[in-house]
Amino acid sequence: MFRKKRAKQKPDATAKQLMGIVGEENVLYLKGDLLSYECDGYTLERGIPRAVVFVRNTQHVSDVVKQLNELEIPYIARGAGTGLSGGATPRGGEVIISLVRMKRLLDLDLENRQAVVEPGYINLKLTQSISDKGYYYAPDPSSQYACTIGGNVAENSGGAHCLKYGVTTNHILGLEVVLPSGEIIEIGNSGVPDQPGYDLLGILTGSEGTLGIVTKITVNILKNPEGKKTGLAYFDDIDDASQAVSDIIATGIIPAALEMMDEIAIEGVEASAYPVGHPSDIAAFLLIEVDGIQEGIDDQIEDILTVCKSNHVRDVKVAKDEAERSMWWANRKMGFGAMGAISPDYLVQDGVIPRTRLPEVLAHISAISRKYELRIANIFHAGDGNLHPLILFDASVPGESDRASKAGSECLQVCADVGGSITGEHGVGIEKSAEMRFIFTDEEMAAQTDIRHVFNPDDLLNPGKLFPEPGRCVEVKRDEKKVSV
Ligand SMILES: Cc1cc2nc3c(=O)[nH]c(=O)nc-3n(C[C@H](O)[C@H](O)[C@H](O)COP(=O)(O)OP(=O)(O)OC[C@H]3O[C@@H](n4cnc5c(N)ncnc54)[C@H](O)[C@@H]3O)c2cc1C
Repeated sequence: MFRKKRAKQKPDATAKQLMGIVGEENVLYLKGDLLSYECDGYTLERGIPRAVVFVRNTQHVSDVVKQLNELEIPYIARGAGTGLSGGATPRGGEVIISLVRMKRLLDLDLENRQAVVEPGYINLKLTQSISDKGYYYAPDPSSQYACTIGGNVAENSGGAHCLKYGVTTNHILGLEVVLPSGEIIEIGNSGVPDQPGYDLLGILTGSEGTLGIVTKITVNILKNPEGKKTGLAYFDDIDDASQAVSDIIATGIIPAALEMMDEIAIEGVEASAYPVGHPSDIAAFLLIEVDGIQEGIDDQIEDILTVCKSNHVRDVKVAKDEAERSMWWANRKMGFGAMGAISPDYLVQDGVIPRTRLPEVLAHISAISRKYELRIANIFHAGDGNLHPLILFDASVPGESDRASKAGSECLQVCADVGGSITGEHGVGIEKSAEMRFIFTDEEMAAQTDIRHVFNPDDLLNPGKLFPEPGRCVEVKRDEKKVSV
């Protein structure tokens, strides 16, 4: 009996046209290959792209965009796909333009403390490439070993050390961008701190790949601090830890990092590949780092630990050497992934609140956990009020994914209700587009979608992201006009 040989899938006309621009070896079109691109780190929604095209230079990006415009096919820029809000996830049928093969460090200007990178350059690699010269790149998302600087620009990413040094937008000096028309523009890069006209650099940074595709980035690099001290403070009561956070900032010392983990999060990281032996019976710990000139650095960490002591801390310690400090940080940066050790699935949320509201918001999150009967771990950049409730669930149990999603949305509602926001650093993407209504009126949303339509009039670039149903015409009450939201 002969089994009929399955016919090999052939590239369709679109894939062939893309191959004509970037070469056959730089286009994926087989169903099996496309599966890897059906979502990013937010896995509750998925879609299959029409093709994936790996561009190698700016001209490729421009030519591919022009071609797709002609064919009226939507497209999405993608970096490493570590996004946590579905920004790089296809809704179905888009072409993914992957920037990962544009990964060169193009220029290093130590005198002016600048580096120029391609968008696929991995975040951590930049610091690794310049640390022996005494410099580093400050924005340090916990995914920095994998995520790209292009993705960081699109999401305006933050990280543990952004409390003192600011998020991505504070470190971007210039961009080269391919607009949805296919035109290539340069913004910033003038060598002066401010430029006349609209702040296009500000608008593009954090626009979640909906206004243009970033093809070159000039970043600010910093001199390594002379000294660093890192401490841990263990608390029996999470309210005491939260109060300590407010009191530390109130002293006027701005730590380089001020991170918090609660007891479920600690259970996860201690079961991960980087356990450090945190006590298993504490309610929360603070991981604190100060840096700057050597003189006075010991006093700074001592002052902060004294504040912890006045908030009923159980125990405090200071890292004795770089090895111990690195171990503590590896444990913290493993935080999200470590949830895999204690739960089959988890959903990362990302709200921001005024720091002083921490105790009441954490109590609300605990109530949400009880309501949906799902454990919620908390790992967060406490110093800047950027919460990450991690909702643990099992997607194989009917209804649990839905409950996790609802619990996540309620956590964001709580953040909005106390005067915070629905995202601190992970972006809106698909995941939180409905929640934009928690913080913006129709009129405010229309002002933003007007900007989107100036850059991206046909909504072919990353459709269905950031705003509730972008691209669709619905009535909003603004001067009796019909606008797209
Ligand atoms: C374990 C883990 C920890 C994380 N920790 C943090 C953290 O501490 N802080 C933080 O901010 N985030 C964090 N993230 C989220 C994520 O890593 C960041 O959002 C990161 O910036 C995404 O980069 P990427 O290269 O993976 O982009 P992708 O996921 O590929 O894309 C993200 C968005 O950017 C757009 N995009 C990508 N490249 C370009 C480009 N060149 N031009 C225009 N648009 C583009 C995409 O269309 C999409 O909308 C974490 C994620 C994980 C999985």
